Amino acid sequence: MENKLISGTQLSKILLENLKEKINNITNNRLPKIVIVQVGDNLASNKYIKHKLKSCEKIGMLSEHLKLDQNITQEELLEEIHKLNNDNKVDGVIVQLPLPNHIDTQVINETIDVNKDADGFSPSTLGKVMLNTSKIFPATPFGILKLLEWKNVELMGANVVIIGRSNIVGKPLANMLINKSATVTICNTKTKDLANVAKKADILICAAGVAKLITKDFVNKDMTVIDVGANFVDGKYCGDVDFDQVIDQVKLITPVPGGVGPMTIACLLENVYNLYLEKNK
Ligand code: NAD
Repeated sequence: MENKLISGTQLSKILLENLKEKINNITNNRLPKIVIVQVGDNLASNKYIKHKLKSCEKIGMLSEHLKLDQNITQEELLEEIHKLNNDNKVDGVIVQLPLPNHIDTQVINETIDVNKDADGFSPSTLGKVMLNTSKIFPATPFGILKLLEWKNVELMGANVVIIGRSNIVGKPLANMLINKSATVTICNTKTKDLANVAKKADILICAAGVAKLITKDFVNKDMTVIDVGANFVDGKYCGDVDFDQVIDQVKLITPVPGGVGPMTIACLLENVYNLYLEKNK
């Protein structure tokens, strides 16, 4: 089983070590800095933010957690973001999602300065990703591409099926794969005969947020499966793939936990470092 696993834990450690070394070598300048803005006290967000801050500490990146009241108005939140946009000592700004319903996430994403857009969710960054001119990539798709390239999974000419068309995973990932000359199919809840569409893929990427959606009927023996799902079922963290059912039926697969999740954090910090480099060229 071990040789079928694509370990995000392992690759993310390598990436973070690389970043640590680069940051350690900064002697004649201030250090890169990220600010994580949180509105309210969502439990999952608290956990994700804790992981991000811990990773910053490990690699010597400066970080700040700006925790704002659940009832902050959109105007007040925009003001906080403008302040961060204007702060020369801040390289990356992320606003942890989800935001409370009274705040328009799209407006917030559009307000973060494109030169500080560490999550890569702004329309400008996403447009550049589509045009293949961006140096910053939404962290989860960025991590997925790194995992595939690390395992030498051929992308050129590959038949890739992505389940999920969100603005932060499915859509940017599809564009990044098209730019690598893959043939990409993006599925959603209205896709007909999903299992049969999936089964023909060389690479199947599942980002639906539905536990155990992917059974053995969706896969083939030569397939690489990337499980993006982060679901909690009966207090247990699991992906979109029924791992025990599928592991013997595929060539390579990411586990959950220990697959895409740790790569997302490492790639987020790589984005911050790259934004810092751009600013200090
Ligand atoms: P989303 O809810 O915004 O989008 C889900 C997409 O999946 C939609 O396009 C929907 O049409 C599609 N979908 C849902 N059920 C489907 C079904 N039964 N058949 C076909 N398509 C279906 O979600 P998102 O933000 O893209 O996240 C997707 C999942 O990935 C979630 O579990 C999320 O927690 C996880 N996630 C994990 C990471 C990570 O770092 N591990 C990062 C981002 C998202």
